Amino acid sequence: LIQKKEITAKDIFDELLAHIKARSADINAYISVIENFTQKDGGLNGMPIAVKDNIMLKGTKTTCASKILSNFESIYDATVIGKLKQSGANFIGKTNMDEFAMGSSCETSFFGPVKNPWDKTRVSGGSSGGSAAAVASGLAIAALGSDTGGSIRQPASFCGVVGLKPTYGRVSRYGLVAFASSLDQIGPITRDVNDACLLLNIIAGFDPKDSTSVNIEVPNYLESLSEDLKGVKIGIYESALGSVPDYIASSIENAIDTYKKLGASIQKIDLPHIKYSISDYYILACAEASSNLARFDGVKYGFRASGESLEEMYVNTRSEGFGAEVKRRIMLGTYVLSSGYYDAYYVRSLRLRNLIKKDFDNAFSQVDAIILPTTPSDAFKIGEVTKPLDMYLSDTFTISANLAGIPAISVPCGFSKNNLPLGLQILSNAFREDILLKIAYAFE
Ligand code: GLN
Repeated sequence: LIQKKEITAKDIFDELLAHIKARSADINAYISVIENFTQKDGGLNGMPIAVKDNIMLKGTKTTCASKILSNFESIYDATVIGKLKQSGANFIGKTNMDEFAMGSSCETSFFGPVKNPWDKTRVSGGSSGGSAAAVASGLAIAALGSDTGGSIRQPASFCGVVGLKPTYGRVSRYGLVAFASSLDQIGPITRDVNDACLLLNIIAGFDPKDSTSVNIEVPNYLESLSEDLKGVKIGIYESALGSVPDYIASSIENAIDTYKKLGASIQKIDLPHIKYSISDYYILACAEASSNLARFDGVKYGFRASGESLEEMYVNTRSEGFGAEVKRRIMLGTYVLSSGYYDAYYVRSLRLRNLIKKDFDNAFSQVDAIILPTTPSDAFKIGEVTKPLDMYLSDTFTISANLAGIPAISVPCGFSKNNLPLGLQILSNAFREDILLKIAYAFE
């Protein structure tokens, strides 16, 4: 429509703004809204993008949905933002999330939970729940999220949209507020696979400002899309399906049937260590978080509480500034890194991570991709999951991709009996987003 000049990017921007104003309290997808539109050339033609509030966008607040950063303004652009600007993007707002991306429901946000557009008594998923709910409810055309253990894919699944976590190193993390640096990746949340390719084409690539970004060529992902899956080998891990409710298992069985019809061959694979993923992740992610979050001390950034001495100021700032889940993780992380426990917990978890990676290496020597459910349930009610460990189980199927550094995508795959969207997760070998997107596109 834009190309035919029937509609301009400014029309879309204004329409979105009006829509956001009318419905913002309803869904609570945005923490801040950006009202200035700039006319732009470039592939995106001025298209407005929503950005998770842990990604720096110069001149806007970047709060990470935390009290401790509630008044912090970004003084530079993340690399992904710079790339999007160069491609002609506008930005419509910063989206709500779990505090510091720690959670699976957006209930840990200092700014209140995001509501699921399909049923507002339910959660959007998290931590990129604001981005997923905005795209699902027509409050954004496309959005960026971040994924440390499932935070793009799980909310995409709960909200019925597409969410892609790229290979670790494919997209620069410069300007993403670090949660667990060895697991974090930025990725797109979109209405369809085509748009995911479009955004990945723009944001992927080597960045000298992120030493973990990888210097290999970025293909044009749009060109890899096709509906012909002849010769493609898809792996299934049957034990995963034994542990989920029937409606999840049958959604995956339907997907397997669809893939057979599309010409793919289906093969069983074994991933003997992925059952330990959750335990492994919560040691490693908390260890890294405890170190990354040490910088929020009331001196360098954001909120500062008063205190008689420097130490008292630190203690008061962190006690008042962080929410309960963030504090829990800082304490757990500090514990597993402390002398006497470091070898028993942290080093053992690193070894286990290596075994999980080897399981995937072995699987990808036999198949091109693996399919799994994205989540073990449909979206739960706001307030329903009260125990942290139960919340952690939401990421049963997503966490292993982060531990292994491989890419994974969630695409909509039917509805539960509650009429809530379900997601199909597809995983591929590192830097094979081309095959991953092709397999996702054919299913769509
Ligand atoms: N839900 C997971 C956690 O709470 C993953 C979060 C994420 O990917 N940022 O840590």
